[in-house]
Parts: sequence; C-alpha cells; structure tokens
Amino acid sequence: MTDWLHDSVAAMASPGPWRSFRHVFIVSFIDDGKYYLLSALVLWLLLHVVLKKRLAHRAIGGWPTRADVGREIMYSISTLCVITALNAGILALVVGGVFEVYAEPLKHGLAWLLLSLPLMIVWHDVYFYWTHRLLHTRWLFTRVHGVHHRSRNPSPWAAFSFHPVEALINSMVVPIALVAVPLNEYVIAAFAIHQIVRNAHGHAAVESLPRGFARHWLGGRFVTTTHHHLHHETGRGNYGLWFTWMDRLFGTERADYFERWDKATAPRPSP
Ligand SMILES: [Zn+2]
Ligand SMILES: [Zn+2]
Repeated sequence: MTDWLHDSVAAMASPGPWRSFRHVFIVSFIDDGKYYLLSALVLWLLLHVVLKKRLAHRAIGGWPTRADVGREIMYSISTLCVITALNAGILALVVGGVFEVYAEPLKHGLAWLLLSLPLMIVWHDVYFYWTHRLLHTRWLFTRVHGVHHRSRNPSPWAAFSFHPVEALINSMVVPIALVAVPLNEYVIAAFAIHQIVRNAHGHAAVESLPRGFARHWLGGRFVTTTHHHLHHETGRGNYGLWFTWMDRLFGTERADYFERWDKATAPRPSP
C-alpha cells in the first residue's frame, strides 16, 4: 500500500490523466495481488500439498476440488480489480484533500498511531458481521453472496472469492473509516496484510491451531478455520470474521462448533 501510494501520488501529479490512472491501477493491482498471492500460495502449498497427508486427520470437512480452486482464483482476480479501482478513487480523494492518509508516523501522536490499527480491526469485524448477515438475506444471497458459498470446502485461494458487488462492500472498510479519521499509511498497510493473512488462513479447510486454542480464555475470542469452515459447510451461523464475540452476543454461533473443533483437533490415530 505504501509503495503504491508514494508512486501513485507522483503519477497523479504528472501530466496525462489516463497515464496516471493506468499507473495507479497497475501498481495497486500488483501490490494487493502480491499479498493475496503470497498468503494463499504459502498456506495452500504448506497445508494442501506438503503436509496434506500428515494433516489429513485435521481436515474439518472435505478438501476443495481443483474446480473449487480454479473458480476461487478467477473470482479473486475479479475482486483485485474492484479493490484496485476503489484504491484509485481513494487516492483521488487523498490527493484532493478529502481523506487524510499521512506518511509522518507521529503527525497525530503516538497514541493514535498505536490505537488506530486495533480500532480498524474491531471496526472491520463489526462492519463485516452486519454486512455478512445482510448478504445472507435471500435476495442478496441468491444474487451476490452465493458466489463465495459455492466453496463448501474452501481453500486459502477463496480469501478474495467474491461477487464484484460483495468485493465492493467488503472493500469499503478503509474509505468509510477515512471519512471520520486520518490514518497512517503503514497502519493501512498492516491492516491490509492482517486481513489477507487471516482471511486465507480462515479458508484453509484444515485446522492448524493447537487443540487448547478454542477454549482458551484469549484464544477462544478469535475466529478459527473450523469456525469459518462450518459457515461454508452449512451456510448458517458463524458470521464473524476475526472475533467470536459478535456471534456469541447475537446468538449466531453454531451449536456444533466445539464438537467439530474437538473432532478436527483430536490426536492423530496411531497406525
Ligand atoms: Zn468464507
Ligand atoms: Zn456467508
């Protein structure tokens, strides 16, 4: 994010609007695409190729098919185009002075620099939970969110596998925040990296966290791969993105979560 921001501000300032837009598009696409490619590729290679046999007993449901992976990658490329177009719009508003994305880390104080990332993550979680519930209403599910749910057993490549409308909805977290507050460019970059790494991990189809995690006083507050996998498998409950608190508060956590967690994290049967 930071590289493309610097390069793109320079490009916007140079003559030729089409050249500038094309530059922003290419740089942003490569930058966001790089995070997606790296996260999904590393997790997929590790969990679905190298360790597949060793982790077979930790498969939550089934494994994704080749067709699933191919479709997830195609929709993710489409999502990257949506994100990139939106980034160009954000950039235009930053250059125009409407949004403030600042480079000097301490410009708004150390407290804001440190607080803004956790606040952005919590805001993302709340925003996602409610938009996700909305996307599960019949009309929107049939036309929009069903694309993401075509993966009953998702792979890490499903992290960006959305209908373009959902891609746009999910990408509004940063611009909506920028309406209210200034954000440091490194905070935005860290936010983007956190979201793609955890998103790819949440779609891994195999539980990689330790057995004690889901019942731990702290670990239990985080959404696990099993938590989100059950959402894909059934299309009901477990709507949260990063934390379990919204599902618990509104009674939407699946009743079989711990049972399936125990099954997925049970010790490997001896040969
Ligand atoms: Zn999902
Ligand atoms: Zn859903």
